[in-house]
Order: sequence, then structure tokens, then C-alpha cells
Amino acid sequence: MTSTLQTTALDTVVQAGDGALVAVPAGGRLRIVDLHGNQAVDTLLYDAHDYANRYSAMDTVRAQAKVYLTTGSRLLSTGGDPLATIVEDTVGRHDTLGGACAKESNVVRYGDHTRHQPACRTTFLRQLARWNRCAPGGFELTVRDLGHNINFFMNVPVTVEGGLSFEDGLSAPGKYVELRAERDILVLVSNCPQVNNPCNGYDPTPVRLIGSGW
Ligand SMILES: [Zn+2]
Repeated sequence: MTSTLQTTALDTVVQAGDGALVAVPAGGRLRIVDLHGNQAVDTLLYDAHDYANRYSAMDTVRAQAKVYLTTGSRLLSTGGDPLATIVEDTVGRHDTLGGACAKESNVVRYGDHTRHQPACRTTFLRQLARWNRCAPGGFELTVRDLGHNINFFMNVPVTVEGGLSFEDGLSAPGKYVELRAERDILVLVSNCPQVNNPCNGYDPTPVRLIGSGW
């Protein structure tokens, strides 16, 4: 597919607790670099021309018959279309089962004192509001567009009994994952600020986003 998006090269650092929403044209690439290691990057993808055609964890897992994401994983949409492919991965595997942290889930898991801590869902909503101020054609992203996400660099092993747990990360400083867009897409990123479990090594740190190919 030929892109109709007008974009510029991207190279930016996203602090822990901050986020980004970037457009990647068909054939373009987006590299996410874990600058300090052990950092979770919660990520959602959308068809840039049809936001309802968004990333589907379930369809992706079913199609590849594996629960972890790595090189070669095709990230499918709710409509069954490939949104992007993981073309490089120096970590080895990424999670798409653990979901994004939120104030509500923090309170349930870790207690009422965590209610006002930063969380990925808050970051997602902030980025949507920023996007909507200049949404192309007036097409806005809303809270209903926040589906189940990818957690790049996050280690959520599945036990032989089918259990899930949040474990210390597999990533390390400078490790990265790179996506190739299979159509014009939007990539929504939250650099996770979670400090109540080991997903960020109890020390959330910055990541770098680098775009190329256009
Ligand atoms: Zn988070």
C-alpha cells in the first residue's frame, strides 16, 4: 500500500510516565530503544484511516499460535489486517497478555495509597486528548479506542499451568524492537511509570523512539 501520510523523521526520548502518538506510513519503520533496560513500553496501534481497525491481541496470538511477540510477529487488527510486523528484536520476546496499568487496577492490586500514582491508561488518555486537538478530518480517538495492548520489553511468563506473573525484565540497556508498518498506522505509546511490581525494575527510565523509511 502506498502511504498518503505526510510525516517527518522521528527521533525523540520519551520519559517514564510520558507518552507519544506517532504516525508511521506504510513501509515506514519505528524503533523503540530501551535506553536503560528493564523498561515496559505499553503500545497500541491503529489503522490511520480507520481507528476502529485497531490492534487485536487475541487475533495476533491466535494467528501466530504463540503468546509472545518477537521478530516475525505480525500485529493484526480487529479486522484481521496486518498493521505492522516486528522486523528486528534484540530482546527475544514481548508481552501482549498483561494489559496496561491503570489507577483502578493499581488500587485493587496494591492499595488505595497508589490511586494518585501515574499510570499508563492516564498517559494514553492524555495522548488522545493531545491528538484530538488537531485530529485529521476531525476524526477523534476516544476512551473506547483503548483496547488490549502490547507491552514491549515486559516479561510476563506463562507457566505450564497457564498462570501469568509480572517478572523481572529480559531487556537490557540499548536493546530494541523495530516495527515495519504494513499500512498507514498510528502508534500510541505509554512509557510505563509503574513502581509497584518489577516490570520496570522498580525504577522507570526513558526510552527512545526512532522512525526511518520516509
Ligand atoms: Zn504501565
